[in-house]
Amino acid sequence: MSGEKRLTDPAPGGRTSARHALPDRGGWFGVYGGRYVAETLVTPLAELERAYAEARADVGFQEELGTLLENFVGRPTPLYFAARLSQQLGSRIYLKREDLAHTGAHKINNTVGQCLLARRMGKPRVIAETGAGQHGVATATAAALLGLECDVYMGRVDTERQALNVHRMELLGARVVPVDSGSRTLKDAISAAMRDWVSHVDSTHYVLGSVLGAHPYPMMVRDFQSIIGRETRTQILAAEGRLPNWLVACVGGGSNSIGLFFEFLDEPSVRMLGIEAGGEAIEPGRHAARFAAGRSGVLQGTKSYLLQDDAGNVLETHSISAGLDYCSVGPEHAYYHDNGRIQYDSIDDDEALAGFDALTRLEGIMPALESAHALGYLLLDRSRIEPGSLLVVNLSGRGDKDVQSVLRARGKP
Ligand SMILES: *Cc1c(COP(=O)(O)O)cnc(C)c1O
Repeated sequence: MSGEKRLTDPAPGGRTSARHALPDRGGWFGVYGGRYVAETLVTPLAELERAYAEARADVGFQEELGTLLENFVGRPTPLYFAARLSQQLGSRIYLKREDLAHTGAHKINNTVGQCLLARRMGKPRVIAETGAGQHGVATATAAALLGLECDVYMGRVDTERQALNVHRMELLGARVVPVDSGSRTLKDAISAAMRDWVSHVDSTHYVLGSVLGAHPYPMMVRDFQSIIGRETRTQILAAEGRLPNWLVACVGGGSNSIGLFFEFLDEPSVRMLGIEAGGEAIEPGRHAARFAAGRSGVLQGTKSYLLQDDAGNVLETHSISAGLDYCSVGPEHAYYHDNGRIQYDSIDDDEALAGFDALTRLEGIMPALESAHALGYLLLDRSRIEPGSLLVVNLSGRGDKDVQSVLRARGKP
């Protein structure tokens, strides 16, 4: 059955392959993307690009990945009709349940794919960087599964804030390397991971966690995540007999959202909305809404929207949700923002908390605070979504990890 085939094929194959030429061979999505790296990384990235192209075309690789996604990750994840939420909001709302994937979020789709690629490239070691620890845990999990050595870079401040995830990674056999340079958070961890990669590239693959960085990462991570949208198409057609009017997802680096959207980009009747973190206010240093206040710039290997001051210095960011708290966004999003194919909006911390409460109380599903941004948007008076719409919201992860943050936001110890 062709639908089933697509579920196990992570390439933008089947019906979408001919229609999406992006990125071009230089890794460009229009004027965004590319490969802005030091000389020392040009060869490793070219080698990765070639290895990935071969793996993508290799039936054996695709079958092994498909089997792991099914039996290890637990795919396909359900498409759940949220009856009480739908009734309250006057639309038909389905949730794509990435929170039910192994380790509790979509990130595992990408780390299993990249670790399988690392093994195929003959690299016994992977490295990653992580902010809140979610990508670190997903990488450590895939590394354990495939018997790879794993080092995860994490800013010292984040290791203290996210001690539980540090323990999880260590229990999985990974080594967590605290980073003491700069602001001792995610940006500094990324720089440390890049330095490691440059000096150990023969033995090591760098597992990047979102649709960021130099080509081929934004394309490769998108391909691994696009299984979300391929499953959704099959599932919504089975449930409703038609495509949705709207797809909604939160946008940090942009991987869960493009993972849902990609399959539908050439369906003009399907509108798409990405929700960024509005934080405390749209003022410098107090949010992570790149499309609300950013402009084009180059950071960590790619050109995209970037939160920066007039002199081009990268600004600090804030969000109640660690996974959305980053100063840039994937270059493919920048492209679809500018040409209008995907719309973007932002909601603030309190509005996201309202989304968290609504889903928890109405459906008995506690969402990650990242996903709560997509849900909270639906509750707003200024929502662009017309009542009566059929929509799919990507529930990118589960909220167990955020219970402390929610209590703290409510002034509880
Ligand atoms: C990391 C994370 C995000 C944000 O990353 P994207 O690349 O934008 O998907 C969103 N939701 C959850 C649950 C996450 O762990």
